[in-house]
Amino acid sequence: AYFDCIDAAEPKIDAYLSTFKDTALERAAQIDDKIAAGKKPGQLAGVPVAVKDNMTTDFGKTTCASKILANFEAPYNATAVQKLLDAGAVILGKLNMDEFAMGSSTENSGIKQTRNPWNTGCVPGGSSGGSAAAVAARMCASALGSDTGGSIRQPAAFCGVVGMKPTYGRVSRYGLVAFGSSLDQIGPLTHDVKDAALMLNVIAGHDSRDSTSVSEELAPRCDCLADIDNPFEGLRIAVVPEYNDSAEAQTAAAIRRAIEQYRSLGAEIVEIQMPHADYAIAAYYLIATAEASSNLARFDGVRYGHRSENVKSYIDVYNMSREEGFGQEVKRRIMLGTYALSSGYYDAYYLKALKVRNLIRRDYQAAFERADALLMPVSPTTAFKIGEKTDDPLQMYLADIYTISLNLAGVPGISIPCGMDSNGMPIGMQLAAPAFQEQKLLRIARMYE
Ligand code: GLN
Repeated sequence: AYFDCIDAAEPKIDAYLSTFKDTALERAAQIDDKIAAGKKPGQLAGVPVAVKDNMTTDFGKTTCASKILANFEAPYNATAVQKLLDAGAVILGKLNMDEFAMGSSTENSGIKQTRNPWNTGCVPGGSSGGSAAAVAARMCASALGSDTGGSIRQPAAFCGVVGMKPTYGRVSRYGLVAFGSSLDQIGPLTHDVKDAALMLNVIAGHDSRDSTSVSEELAPRCDCLADIDNPFEGLRIAVVPEYNDSAEAQTAAAIRRAIEQYRSLGAEIVEIQMPHADYAIAAYYLIATAEASSNLARFDGVRYGHRSENVKSYIDVYNMSREEGFGQEVKRRIMLGTYALSSGYYDAYYLKALKVRNLIRRDYQAAFERADALLMPVSPTTAFKIGEKTDDPLQMYLADIYTISLNLAGVPGISIPCGMDSNGMPIGMQLAAPAFQEQKLLRIARMYE
């Protein structure tokens, strides 16, 4: 049924970079047999899911939507992918994204443009635009995305689905092609909060192959489904008045309605300040680009992917392969990051950004002393027209204002649908919680559904 849906919708949406119909059907049949034989089928037995194309799979290709990796076949599964398979999920295909997850609209894909299922003239958001569009158009039941600065939450909001970024360290990054290693986190995009809890249960957990994945002693395993339908008593929700003032009128109005709904459910609403919020974009775009410039050094035409054929020297191999393989936005980020890390500028830019990051982390700590969760917009606007912002990368960066500070602080966040604008485009709201309190966060989000 899902492949019928893919056949019908994909020509208009272009969410998938590859599909695995034969292997998926075979696998589904195997799971059926397993169930028929009375074996324990796994939490996701037969569930049709899809994966953003920056997570490795030992079948098909892993392209990161980049020409430099257009033919790359990984020899192993990312831990999150392996966990889905171990739980019995059926992987239908790999999903489009901004090249190397750099962007907010999927317009930076080096392969194709995914369209928003609610209005195919609009972007699906990004960088996990393929994941959000595929879930919204029912071309998979749930998907995995990755979030470095909002790339799960913002496309989820643009496409009217649920998207969750877990705490940094909660889900293994092994097999996730690194963009900003201190910010990247894998998470689910789903139809509702319960599905997000189920997906997180499956993919979370310590992994000795990712040194930044947190040990079970520090972050005990939780069952996010256990009490998800129990309303949270004595709930305190923090809101940042300035955040709402800076969002578009219809988004701000939807957030205000959501606040009122929580109030009517018995929550106490506390107004707070995030004093360093104004510096979040600057700090993020220094740290993320610095880390990206270092991470992307491995794509050199020797070890992975595309190698230029027009080379005369070994220096040419690096220069020309990278010149031909990377798109414009990726090159911009590599240059920005290399500049920020270069000697003489390191202290002025990168080190300063790390200090600001710490101040932002403290803003969150202070906020969570007064409240259980923080409620705010996901994006200042709903999905914009394809091509509307491509000439002005800075404008695109500025729209990440509400999402990126969570990555800088490492805390979990979830984006859930909270209405529509007058053009019928979905509006999302965002809830954030203290590190490793996903169970509470999901429960609070579930109250709103
Ligand atoms: N839009 C942000 C960026 O371009 C976030 C991307 C992401 O989370 N991967 O960096």
